[in-house]
Amino acid sequence: PAVGTRLMDARAVTKRFGGLVANDSVDLHVDAGEVHALIGPNGAGKSTFFNMISGVDDPTEGSIALLSQPMAGKPSREFARLGLSRTFQHVRILGQRSVLENVALGAHLRAHRGWLASMLRLDRAEEAALLAEARRQIERCGLGPFADVPAGSLALGQQRIVEIARALAGQPALLLLDEPAAGLRHLEKQALAQLLAQLRSEGLGILIVEHDMEFVMNLADRITVLEFGAVIAEGPPAEIQSNQRVLDAYLGG
Ligand code: ADP
Ligand code: MG
Repeated sequence: PAVGTRLMDARAVTKRFGGLVANDSVDLHVDAGEVHALIGPNGAGKSTFFNMISGVDDPTEGSIALLSQPMAGKPSREFARLGLSRTFQHVRILGQRSVLENVALGAHLRAHRGWLASMLRLDRAEEAALLAEARRQIERCGLGPFADVPAGSLALGQQRIVEIARALAGQPALLLLDEPAAGLRHLEKQALAQLLAQLRSEGLGILIVEHDMEFVMNLADRITVLEFGAVIAEGPPAEIQSNQRVLDAYLGG
């Protein structure tokens, strides 16, 4: 999609767990070519929101659209088909398998349902196409020299990038990253930020949940702040950093 295309549009999204309001009428959109950060204290409702916009869970009220398609009741596979790819808070790689195999798995997940069954039935041409796509994404992410080493032997920062390459192998328009900088060293964070800025310049839309404020403030184009499930502020980093309500709720707390 062209830069500026509305990739994801969540309107008045509410999620209740019994009497608990985990998301309270949340509005949030992500366009192609921007990095949007979702921040807020623990328990604010960030993961709940991620789960709904990736089709893992359904909103109690409100609507979610991907590329203008209403997604109510659709399975997460359909979200992926429309161009959404995500990583998880904790690294999920097969440590004994090569970087190439780990990334190829992402391409395969995108192309098929029930990969475990169909992996065994791949014909040679399909397998070759999958591996070629995986190699392309590995190069794109600067992991070329590591393609054939066991993914588990890499440093955490590189494993995170393997996960991003795997998500990219699904050829998404919108990438959801759950705390990509957590636990990384300074130089690893810089490398990650550089990669995400590159992907943004290539037209991807990126939504990150991240606790590292320096990382978020340096990278994000816009920030949405949640507190007790509700949006208390939305805007560019400079605005958010000087918003008194945000300082009280989160940054100062
Ligand atoms: P965050 O990711 O911002 O830390 P969460 O979205 O995980 O916050 O949680 C928001 C609130 O919803 C918390 O109070 C949490 O305990 C509650 N919650 C999350 N998932 C469930 C669930 N499946 N059942 C009941 N309560 C939940
Ligand atoms: Mg969470």
